[in-house]
Amino acid sequence: MKEKIGTFLEGERKRLCSMSDAIFDRPEMAFKEAFASGLLEDYLEEKGFTVQRGLGSLPTAFRAEYQNGEGGPSIGLLCEYDALPQGHACGHQMQGPSIVGAAYAIKELLKDKPYKLIVYGTPAEEGKGGKVIMLEDGFLQDMDVALMMHGGPATQTDIHSMAKISAKVTFHGKSAHAALKPEAGRSALDALLLSFQGIEFLREHVKEDTRIHYTVLDAGGPCNVVPQAATGDFGIRSYDSAYLDELIRRFENIIKGAALMTETTEEIHYGKRIEGKIPVFKLNELLMKNAEYYDAPNRQPDRKKTGSTDFANVMYRIPGACIRIAFVPPGTSSHSQEFVDAGKTQEAHEAVLLAAKILAASAVQMVMEPQLLQDIKEEFASRRNVSAN
Ligand SMILES: [Zn+2]
Ligand SMILES: [Zn+2]
Repeated sequence: MKEKIGTFLEGERKRLCSMSDAIFDRPEMAFKEAFASGLLEDYLEEKGFTVQRGLGSLPTAFRAEYQNGEGGPSIGLLCEYDALPQGHACGHQMQGPSIVGAAYAIKELLKDKPYKLIVYGTPAEEGKGGKVIMLEDGFLQDMDVALMMHGGPATQTDIHSMAKISAKVTFHGKSAHAALKPEAGRSALDALLLSFQGIEFLREHVKEDTRIHYTVLDAGGPCNVVPQAATGDFGIRSYDSAYLDELIRRFENIIKGAALMTETTEEIHYGKRIEGKIPVFKLNELLMKNAEYYDAPNRQPDRKKTGSTDFANVMYRIPGACIRIAFVPPGTSSHSQEFVDAGKTQEAHEAVLLAAKILAASAVQMVMEPQLLQDIKEEFASRRNVSAN
């Protein structure tokens, strides 16, 4: 079967790579990926999938489905296609073509057992949490397992990613002339500065992998007026979603304390919360075994820790994994000019094909061997419980 998948996808090579290049040549930023999503939707429709264009509040999200027989597991394939200001500096042009190719191969080659294939187009990964919005809108929850691909400097899977939350805090005080009637004033800026100070003291008493950053968004005006309002921007991260809750509790105490000290009031607005991934080693192993079968370049052990991604919110709810395929030299950072320069190379095209083969082969195995999928689900459930407690 693996050989068949390989041959079948080689037949689609030209089409998939030209789609990847076309998306690369028309970089679209978060929520504006009309060309990319349209191209992928057209392909899936042509290949016999039922396609829903636009999901909930996101016109550039899509869901495509194919049901073989009756019942069976639901295999999810997810792809991103948003760019950065400097173009496709995260390699997302490769994901859609790779994923739709995998879906087409599974649909055409796997007839023996019942299953459902669900392909999700997920916009706005870069800093906008598109998948968080899709989850809020009720999508991304109808799969037994969720698979992705991403380009990178090595072929590997991931273990942990950072949970994070951002917060905008505005302190409200009372303005007064800073020289003539300072005693009448209550400085919102003082409160903001004290909150920064509080966070510096907190740093000594949190787990090592905690990250807290802050900056002033609005300092409240000229120095001869006691500032009536001041706003700060805060970011809190940890590799552990449960520990993030503890950090949020302590953060709120600092904010309240700063307000109390200055007799101001506080207003906290949280941004979208990104969870930490719950890894499923059995699934990572399955992807890497198939990466070995198709001889993917520069295969390396799991990345132990990575930054934040909205895919983690999916992986927090259902078993999932992402196969990263090497297409840039070892050590190259994403969001770099090197990623842009490598966007249409032979290596990038190879990554599109390799990931399609690896994901298709892994999906077929999970459908053909119910015990394998069961083991994956059980491993996920046990890790999920540990993380929730
Ligand atoms: Zn990125
Ligand atoms: Zn990315």
